[in-house]
Amino acid sequence: MVRGRYPKKKVDPDSLTYKDFECDWSFWIIMSQSDEKLFAWLQARGLLARYMECEKCEVPMKLSKDKRRWRCPISNNHDYSYKRFSFYTGTHFNIRDILLFIRNMLNQRSLYRSSISSGMSYSGTSVNWSRYMRDIFKLYFVKHIDSLQLRGIIEIDETLLGRRQKYNMGKRSGMKVWLFGLLERNSDKKQPDRIIIYPVESRDRPTLVWVIKKHVAPGETIYSDNWTAYSELTSLGYKHFTVCHKYNYMRLYEEQATGMCQKYSNKIILFLTIYKTLNKKLIYKR
Ligand SMILES: [Zn+2]
Repeated sequence: MVRGRYPKKKVDPDSLTYKDFECDWSFWIIMSQSDEKLFAWLQARGLLARYMECEKCEVPMKLSKDKRRWRCPISNNHDYSYKRFSFYTGTHFNIRDILLFIRNMLNQRSLYRSSISSGMSYSGTSVNWSRYMRDIFKLYFVKHIDSLQLRGIIEIDETLLGRRQKYNMGKRSGMKVWLFGLLERNSDKKQPDRIIIYPVESRDRPTLVWVIKKHVAPGETIYSDNWTAYSELTSLGYKHFTVCHKYNYMRLYEEQATGMCQKYSNKIILFLTIYKTLNKKLIYKR
């Protein structure tokens, strides 16, 4: 087997999607295209307008030769920028620089590094752009994740991110966030498991039960640890299992309603650990 990123690169820009931005080689293949090809690529993927109508004459407009202006066939004075109605509206930056900035931010580079790489000023512009990106994630969250319903077997767990104050000693500063994770175990192994991770201020009963009710319908199966906040899940109509013995890979779970025991491997703990490691710098880096 050949390892690394280079073998995975795609040479044909038409076959590339945003997901290929992950691979350096594929990303730079898109970036090194001519303006016309790059704009066509962005248009085909809905990042630039494909169709424009003149607001005064109400006729379809045409792109100029250099693909940078929409021109009206009736009057030469009616024209719009090719960035109109897109994510790039109103910016004087080259779209390539913005793509680079977005890619660096997605790769968890600091705002400073991302703005240097794309030639933005560190103070104003880059802060605004990172805010736009956050707005888009918020929209995505509301549209796709906020209403997500998990089915079948769901594992839940919570973990502390940030300051852990042991024995009341040490500095009482720093951020402290609980992460509450829900994982839908997919029976079909080809499909990935679906995971939702919430940052919550405390892991008390009202907070956690509110999240569970929101994403899991009664009647589904829930595997959890023995935390008291979960004690009423059986009465809420869930098939609730709590852990009663920990082995290395498997755990023994007991169904709360019947007392039946069952061995089961747990995945959510692993995912929460990975998530914690990835996001540690958000907490500790100042
Ligand atoms: Zn016109």
